[in-house]
Amino acid sequence: MSDTPAERQLNFIEQIIEADNASGKWGGKVVTRFPPEPNGYLHIGHAKSICLNFGLAQRYGGTCNLRFDDTNPTKEEMEYVHSISDNIRWLGFEWPNQKDDAVESGALFASDYFQTMYDYACELIRKGKAYVCDLTADETREYRGSLNKPGRESPHRNRSVEENLDLFDRMRKGEFPDGSRTLKAKIDMASPNVNLRDPVMYRILHAKHHRTGDAWCIYPMYDWAHGIEDSLEGVTHSICTLEFENHRPLYDWFINAINEGRTNDGSGPWGKRIVHSQQIEFAKLDLNYTVMGKRNLLALVKEKRVGGWDDPRMPTLSGLRRRGYTPESIRNFCTDVGVAKFKSTIDIGRLENAVRDHLNKVAPRRMAVLDPLKVVIENWPEDGTVDELDAINNPEDASAGSRKVPFTRELYIEREDFMEDAPKKFFRLAPGREVRLRYAYFVTCTGVVKNDAGEIVELRCTYDPATRGGDSPDGRKVKGTLHWVSASHAVEAEVRLYDRLFNDEDPDNPRHEKDFHEFLNPDSLKKVHGCKLEPSLAQAAIGDRMQFERLGYFNVDIETTPGNLIFNRIVSLKDSWAKQRDQ
Ligand code: ATP
Ligand code: MG
Repeated sequence: MSDTPAERQLNFIEQIIEADNASGKWGGKVVTRFPPEPNGYLHIGHAKSICLNFGLAQRYGGTCNLRFDDTNPTKEEMEYVHSISDNIRWLGFEWPNQKDDAVESGALFASDYFQTMYDYACELIRKGKAYVCDLTADETREYRGSLNKPGRESPHRNRSVEENLDLFDRMRKGEFPDGSRTLKAKIDMASPNVNLRDPVMYRILHAKHHRTGDAWCIYPMYDWAHGIEDSLEGVTHSICTLEFENHRPLYDWFINAINEGRTNDGSGPWGKRIVHSQQIEFAKLDLNYTVMGKRNLLALVKEKRVGGWDDPRMPTLSGLRRRGYTPESIRNFCTDVGVAKFKSTIDIGRLENAVRDHLNKVAPRRMAVLDPLKVVIENWPEDGTVDELDAINNPEDASAGSRKVPFTRELYIEREDFMEDAPKKFFRLAPGREVRLRYAYFVTCTGVVKNDAGEIVELRCTYDPATRGGDSPDGRKVKGTLHWVSASHAVEAEVRLYDRLFNDEDPDNPRHEKDFHEFLNPDSLKKVHGCKLEPSLAQAAIGDRMQFERLGYFNVDIETTPGNLIFNRIVSLKDSWAKQRDQ
């Protein structure tokens, strides 16, 4: 992590951990976990949780497990297990027992604990704390009541232990159809906390699981499963998002119910107490101009609104990675937004700034012209003379050195860097005006060549040989400096320019009458063909990142093939949205 607690105030979770360490509650141990459900690709919100959980483990010399919460067989797939593991490694974090045979090696799976969960459930039945209920899902909802209406007790609530054990065993054996029965915790149908009104622990679901196959046809519910998973792994601080705050009493109730009658030394009929992890809730990351939620992202993928989970416009880690975001920039962003108890919306500009800041330090500078306009230097020899000029690779990093860029009689500049009838404040090229070509010479425009349609197809210029390197010995100043590329040396490429995927700040706001789809930005992707790049970029490899001077930060897209270079704009040089918004 880029920060240390000494440089800033401890966040509330660090305060809890330090207090626990001081009191010896966990013997100085810190064990956290990141518990994704493998039902989609990770998004930037998950990165916050990853940085938090793995970051705490690093900071306090503990461990952070990667645990797949794979208790919903119908929505989960191995593809997601792979992509999630791969993204966490890419972000720069390690979980225990990682080996390189498979990206997910060392990961833990809730499904590995199904038998233990089942055994604990039988124990709760024997303690009179759980029962098999025959109410349907609709009836269960009706019996549960609501915030201002107490629940009613299920007619099956007082079955005998023997009958419950028998029915639960037969549920497991597959004797009953989906939805016909559940196992419920016997808590309190009048509790003001609706989560405590006899919550479902198991449901019947005859579905093939991506790891356990057909071994199970009953699956544990989140609240029952999660605390046991934490306990079995010896998790000390079980960090989740705020929606689970009023599930915490249930989390605690389940572990207390298992521990009832158990002892520290394991003497007695129920055995040894199990670990009771502490659940701590923090506020989710909420970014404007974005939808998160795997459900929404899956819809965009399935409906082909985007090219896939890794579309560079997606807020997924795969999308950000393909777009060219660095792991450091995402970690820095997560540190920057911090951890709090209260929900707030973060401007997506802060994410863009994070990658801008990082790439400013590390990305080599290159010249590329996206919308080329030919320039002929009239007083340059016509014999093919090439002047190899020195160009600095990164003004922020002297060790990055310099490279040669060829200057010739025919060049390209950006079409928008020329205006025929330019206002006074247009500090670029116009007839009779002088500008600097970066690293090269001062040039003055002497005329334009137009086609039959009256469009400008070429500029004529003269250069001043005394200004080689970009300065005039007579102290003459020019206001504009343009990027350029030698026409005969230029490498052709396609450049993809991205804008926000949504036009609305809060596309998924339930208060909208419209569905988030209606806020999709139709101009979020612009493919620009025929761009002209300086020759050093012919060697660019997939994933390479660089700054195109004056245009932004770019990387080489994975769809690049030999002879067909494709670049993504990661982010422009300035936050153009902040300007628009503040107007
Ligand atoms: P989603 O539906 O958005 O994918 P989820 O919470 O259902 O979210 P999980 O796979 O269950 O996804 O999440 C794994 C972990 O990531 C959980 O601990 C969850 O709290 C955390 N998480 C999910 N979304 C965010 C977010 N926006 N900000 C911070 N943490 C998040
Ligand atoms: Mg989920």
